[in-house]
Amino acid sequence: AKAHIAAVEKARALNAYVLETPEKALAMAAASDEKIGRGEGGALEGIPLGIKDLFCTEGVVSTAGSNILKTFNPPYESTVTRNLWNDGAVMLGKLNMDEFAMGSSNETSAFGPVVSPWRREGSNVGAGGAGMIEGTHLVPGGSSGGSASAVAAHLCLGATATDTGGSIRQPAAFTGTVGIKPTYGRCSRWGTVAFASSLDQAGPITRTVRDSAIMLRSMAGLDPKDTTCSDLPVPDFEAAVSRGVKGLKIGIPKEYRVDGMSPEIEKLWAQGTEWLRAAGAEIVEVSLPHTKYALPAYYIVAPAEASSNLARYDGVRYGVRVPGRDIAEMYENTRAQGFGREVKRRIMIGTYVLSAGYYDAYYVRAQKIRTLIKQDFETVYAQGVHAILTPATPSAAFGIGEKGAADPVEMYLNDIFTVTVNMAGLPGIAVPAGLDSQGLPLGLQLIGRAFDEETLFAAGQVIE
Ligand code: GLN
Repeated sequence: AKAHIAAVEKARALNAYVLETPEKALAMAAASDEKIGRGEGGALEGIPLGIKDLFCTEGVVSTAGSNILKTFNPPYESTVTRNLWNDGAVMLGKLNMDEFAMGSSNETSAFGPVVSPWRREGSNVGAGGAGMIEGTHLVPGGSSGGSASAVAAHLCLGATATDTGGSIRQPAAFTGTVGIKPTYGRCSRWGTVAFASSLDQAGPITRTVRDSAIMLRSMAGLDPKDTTCSDLPVPDFEAAVSRGVKGLKIGIPKEYRVDGMSPEIEKLWAQGTEWLRAAGAEIVEVSLPHTKYALPAYYIVAPAEASSNLARYDGVRYGVRVPGRDIAEMYENTRAQGFGREVKRRIMIGTYVLSAGYYDAYYVRAQKIRTLIKQDFETVYAQGVHAILTPATPSAAFGIGEKGAADPVEMYLNDIFTVTVNMAGLPGIAVPAGLDSQGLPLGLQLIGRAFDEETLFAAGQVIE
């Protein structure tokens, strides 16, 4: 823990942590040492972790990357973090993120952007190069950008993250780390600040597939406080890591070969396919015909749910209050000053698509598309396919300020390979698969059957 505390202090320029909790870390580490001394201890005893600031931590300010929650000190602990502490993990601090997890670059945070430890071309310092700020500053991806940057720069051994449309897998791909979004319902959402409740899932970002399996096992499990949380037993994911892929059928979806895909990504995808084939998997082409509607449908469903979830930030119940002459003006002032631009945009889109007169034209139609997307996957899995291999992102990491400033849709297009998985509630893992010509990491994504994260760990290990 001490070495990590020092590393975090040295790498403040990355802006990965919004709050460091060194005293807490040392106290938790001391308790772990005692337990280990007694021959006791859990699966994560003494392991120092960073926590995305979307997870409520009791007595430790939890902001969701927003001004409106800058003073919010939760009187409760999220189930996922509680599970980690019960297994002996140590908290180093809270990690930066896009405001309310809305974004793909960690540039919407009220704490400013996170910097990736990776650099382009000759200035690339790679993993472990924390603190080096030369050359173009790249985004670490979002919304779990603090988590990805911290893990890549060795500022923690693993980090919690959340994924509503790609926020674990895309930053993992951008930083050469491993990120899994488990099946919807695998981890409890209790105590995690809600973005879009039917899509949100927690998962780990780690440096290896094995670490991912170990950490997810601790995070997951039934929680009576979240009625959407599954009561299926949590398997020993670590045991699945070395299982191999012999006899597995891996699908390559033709609709993911999108227009304008970079030749580097295509090469990487073909390479990953070959690795799996060489390891004994059977490769088949599959079709997911409704893929092209996923992104527009996601950007209706997610903002709709967000506009409803964010109604609770009224200056009364949580966090910051900006006074006004009467209560209506107090609401207005609080929300005007408390929320950033992207969050306001989502609230406006969400209330629009839910409003009388537009509800059927947008929201209901998006829900129908969601069902069709789900059925696409069911059809493929009914053909005996165990997992699907796709690129994780359409490109490698871009520079800070390079994308989305004039046109937010440019940023949304980043999620083209990841949102389908949330819409269908399926598990998806991003694993590092190589570097592009600029020396930047690229990731591949494996999509699994519901509650079969084990196959993703097995296949992910072959690619890693
Ligand atoms: N980039 C997507 C969005 O902005 C996904 C974010 C997420 O998964 N939390 O909605």
